[in-house]
Amino acid sequence: MSKPLVVITGASSGIGAGIAKRMSAAGHPLLMLARRLEQLKALQLPNTMCRKVDVTDSDALRGAIGEAEAQYGPVDCLINNAGKMLLGNIETQNPAEWRQMFDVNVLALLNGMQAVLEGMKSRRTGTIINVSSIAGVKSFINHAAYCGTKYAVSAIGETVREEVASAGVRVMTICPGAVETELLSHTTSQEIIDAYSQWKASIGGAVNAEDIARTVMFMYSQPQYVNIREIQIAATGQS
Ligand code: NDP
Repeated sequence: MSKPLVVITGASSGIGAGIAKRMSAAGHPLLMLARRLEQLKALQLPNTMCRKVDVTDSDALRGAIGEAEAQYGPVDCLINNAGKMLLGNIETQNPAEWRQMFDVNVLALLNGMQAVLEGMKSRRTGTIINVSSIAGVKSFINHAAYCGTKYAVSAIGETVREEVASAGVRVMTICPGAVETELLSHTTSQEIIDAYSQWKASIGGAVNAEDIARTVMFMYSQPQYVNIREIQIAATGQS
């Protein structure tokens, strides 16, 4: 039997690309979204639609999902993964960076859920997996706005889970600790990047995107009547 459509935001690198490879290997048709179209295409996954979409543009997001559903059938799983981590000291950080993180990490995640929920509820099946963070569970210095976005992701996901549970739709949250990706590289303060890198070395290194992808697949592949509400996953050495 053919597998249903999985939509992955932020699939051009890191965790999203790792999830895309896993889902594709399991036979799912994919809609992969990000701004760097060439990086999506470079993964060369079969049965996959790649679209250059800024997830903060809800019309573009809905348009791409509609296009993929016309080709592959209804979306069964949305992985809300696209995210930005711009670390900074609250006293000196440019507020534009706070706005960018809330736009991508929080508002775009809401856009994604809104785009798929009506269809999932009407079919009485479907799964949304939101990528939060250990920074959505505990605080870290220089992470004020980022932690704020990830606490929001956890709270939003858990609220929507309750709202749609009776319609048979699952909402799950995964909270990774430090993962080896390009996420840190967007922070503008070299001092903060260096401190983060030293901390990562001091805990014996981070987990990798494949560790997160394997866990997401475990969550999704449970029978539909089982909802793994939240998983925290981090390197053993991370406190
Ligand atoms: P990457 O920087 O490798 O990936 C981020 C992805 O988000 C990219 O594919 C990027 O694509 C996409 N993205 C960013 N902004 C937009 C936008 N406006 N529209 C569309 N896509 C966008 O980092 P990770 O893989 O580490 O991050 C993935 C998720 O995991 C994020 O939500 C992050 O907060 C979370 N996370 C990461 C941890 C880590 O230590 N790495 C730990 C805990 C959580 P493009 O630039 O092509 O648009």
